[in-house]
Amino acid sequence: MSSTTAATARTRSRPTRVEVDLDAIRRNATRLRELAGAELCAVVKADAYGHGAVPVARAAIEGGAGCLAVALVEEGEALRDAGLDAQILVLSEPPVAAVPQLLAAELTPVVYRPSFAAALDEAGRARGRPVAVHVKLDTGMGRVGIPPALWRERLAGLASLPGIEVAGLLTHLARAEELDAPTTGEQLAAFDEGLAIAAELGLRPRWIHAANTAGALAWPAARRDLVRCGIGLYGLSPGGGIDAAAHGLVPALRVVSEVSFAKQVPAGTAVSYGHHWRAPTDGWLATVPIGYADGVPRRLGNRIEVLLDGRRRPLVGAVTMDQVLVWCDRHEPRAGDEVVLLGEQGSERIRVEEWAAAGETITYEIVTQLSARLPRQHRDGQAAPHAPRTGSDRRTQ
Ligand SMILES: *Cc1c(COP(=O)(O)O)cnc(C)c1O
Repeated sequence: MSSTTAATARTRSRPTRVEVDLDAIRRNATRLRELAGAELCAVVKADAYGHGAVPVARAAIEGGAGCLAVALVEEGEALRDAGLDAQILVLSEPPVAAVPQLLAAELTPVVYRPSFAAALDEAGRARGRPVAVHVKLDTGMGRVGIPPALWRERLAGLASLPGIEVAGLLTHLARAEELDAPTTGEQLAAFDEGLAIAAELGLRPRWIHAANTAGALAWPAARRDLVRCGIGLYGLSPGGGIDAAAHGLVPALRVVSEVSFAKQVPAGTAVSYGHHWRAPTDGWLATVPIGYADGVPRRLGNRIEVLLDGRRRPLVGAVTMDQVLVWCDRHEPRAGDEVVLLGEQGSERIRVEEWAAAGETITYEIVTQLSARLPRQHRDGQAAPHAPRTGSDRRTQ
């Protein structure tokens, strides 16, 4: 916490920032839970997809999420350090050496390797209280999990360990955002076979789960007891045929800066590295202090627009490490004018989905690559009914 305080106290030399609307997070959590008709596990790995894990986790819980999920033990520890006491699932196995840390932070591991289960069993017996785990079946993602052919034997082995309690069974969908992919139905059928085997072994775990955001939104059969939503919590589309906005989810993040320099140029003026753009007419150029070191992908040069003076204006020339250029045509920009790279200004909005399409990538990659150099400012306006806290701007980092 002390480093947070120190960073906040230091004067910022640059106006460029990420603003996160915690009301949007709360409302998205409530919405996802309603849509899925299941418990919501808010996935806040990778610093809540760049949105700031601690404030986002709090807002998600205020919005009705019943548990949290992270990728790393350290991410779970940071949530505990901040005072979050919800159940925290660690989505893949850390090295066995991290077991003491994992247990000290009361994190709930996802388990699939016998060696990892053995280490947890030993630790659970040593402390005299079994470790609750969720066991993962690989029904077709092909990344981690117990293969179906080994499921009965491995699950029986796990269930026999006195230091472990099987509290959940899960799988992960590979193509849930493809509305007509046959593999999702096949994966769910394989999961059901795995669940039947678990029942034969006498297991009745409390939590059965399969859906990520796309599964929760598009595949009712994937919903089960719990849905694990990341991208939808941030109001962003998972890709494929699923539009977050059409499901009533709202983006929480804005990337904002200001004009740092403005100049009038004659037609034909070439700008930035490589001179990949020339002014089509006499007009105005604005320089904005944000670049690829902040997470604006270099390949988006000449491919996206920003909002300046309430209007869309093209980002022109190569994106440089710390700065980009914006063509303002006949409009004269002034140093200090607000520039929005992502999010709303007036009645216009630039969506993360636009950057993803222009960069031939997915929304996940865009937001997780917004770098640590951009301070995150958390805005907490009108509190949702779940949220007794109200407030002024909360600033972290
Ligand atoms: C990241 C992750 C999720 C969340 O996926 P979204 O598409 O962001 O909702 C769910 N489950 C697992 C296992 C994950 O790794």
